[in-house]
Amino acid sequence: MHTVIIGGSFGGLNVAYDLRRLLPHKSHKITLISAEPRFIFIPSLPWVTMGSKTIDDISFELKGPLNSKRIEFIEATVTSIDPEKNQVHTPAETIDYDCLVIATGHRSANEAVPGLGPFDGPGHSLMSPPEAEEAHEAWTTFLENPGPMVIGCAPGASCLGPAYEFLFEAHHALKKRKLCHKAPMTFITPEPFLGHFGVGGFGKIRQYLESELEDRDIRYHTSAAITTITGNSVETADGSVFESRFSLVIPPLAGVTAVAEAPGLGNPKGFIPVDEHYRHTTFSNIYVVGVAVALPPVEDTPVPVNFPKTGHMTEQMARIAANNIAADVLGTQKTTHELSVECIMDMGNEAAHMVADPVRPPRNVSRLSHGKRWLIAKRFFARYYLWKLRLGANKSPKWVW
Ligand SMILES: Cc1cc2nc3c(=O)[nH]c(=O)nc-3n(C[C@H](O)[C@H](O)[C@H](O)COP(=O)(O)OP(=O)(O)OC[C@H]3O[C@@H](n4cnc5c(N)ncnc54)[C@H](O)[C@@H]3O)c2cc1C
Repeated sequence: MHTVIIGGSFGGLNVAYDLRRLLPHKSHKITLISAEPRFIFIPSLPWVTMGSKTIDDISFELKGPLNSKRIEFIEATVTSIDPEKNQVHTPAETIDYDCLVIATGHRSANEAVPGLGPFDGPGHSLMSPPEAEEAHEAWTTFLENPGPMVIGCAPGASCLGPAYEFLFEAHHALKKRKLCHKAPMTFITPEPFLGHFGVGGFGKIRQYLESELEDRDIRYHTSAAITTITGNSVETADGSVFESRFSLVIPPLAGVTAVAEAPGLGNPKGFIPVDEHYRHTTFSNIYVVGVAVALPPVEDTPVPVNFPKTGHMTEQMARIAANNIAADVLGTQKTTHELSVECIMDMGNEAAHMVADPVRPPRNVSRLSHGKRWLIAKRFFARYYLWKLRLGANKSPKWVW
């Protein structure tokens, strides 16, 4: 039997390691295909943008760790998927599978906001390694001659945390240089209140973030729809124009092209519908994990805000999917559980720790705490996670996810 996994990040790598642990290598071949030859710890991209880390600092090569676990690695872009014929195509070959796991993450739908760029327009983003590196160069230049700046999220965004992280980290960097008076900051978000994050908030996050932004003299606008970014402004749907010499805006996300174009695989945005076992709703030998999964928003909001799929949630999906693939093979019971989420948001001088269980309200746990200790924990966790995945030790002690 041959399982093919597309994607070498939180979803794909965790499924690969778990499956290898659950299924004997003599009867079960596993191949992981990834366009990117490295595992990159994506949650550290705001640090790349700020210049405190490089992509090399937050990544490792996939081939060695995978091969050492008897998982074949192919560095290639999957150009098309044929779910009827059980085949995936790369520019060099056609690969047959018995079971397919799709963990291809997202495509940044930057075209949703005219001017967002980041490579063909004045706006910046940090949703992928090249975008974070581009934003870092622009940020370095901006610091030499700062001016008004706008940070925010576009209508329909789902990954809102990095906008807040960049906002707080940028403020911290400006404050250290005594430049805040030259760079008034405005935060613009489609969320109905600060800290909604597409999940309806966590504990007292709204009051906390409002007071943190007010303490820092940062203006904010909620339920706001960014429509255009120009070289010196950001415009919103109500006709407001905000002066901005540095604009960083998180776009809405879409599925990657190979998924979006595969007949019958995804929804119109290119995300893939699954059942509670993370199995495709039509093709029973296809599993999907991570950002590639189609999950509906938690509620209707005046300006659309989509449901986030975090690294922590992706890891849980990977574990559930791997167990269920093994259950298909071994004839054992399938299992699942509701997703929970735990996140640490860097706020420059401290960090906020948020927990929601389950992610979708109503919840048993909805908690917020903050302090310097969480900043230390975030830095530790980034290193620990890279170490853990490089070793293939994908089980964590209970006190870390
Ligand atoms: C800036 C930023 C900050 C974040 N911060 C946090 C945080 O603090 N905490 C948290 O829990 N989550 C955070 N997240 C979310 C987290 O990074 C994602 O949930 C996680 O990366 C999703 O993993 P994934 O495997 O689904 O997809 P991705 O990480 O997007 O990986 C997709 C993989 O698929 C490969 N791929 C894509 N298309 C193809 C193709 N056609 N052929 C072959 N390979 C392909 C890519 O090369 C990559 O290996 C953040 C995300 C961003 C962007």
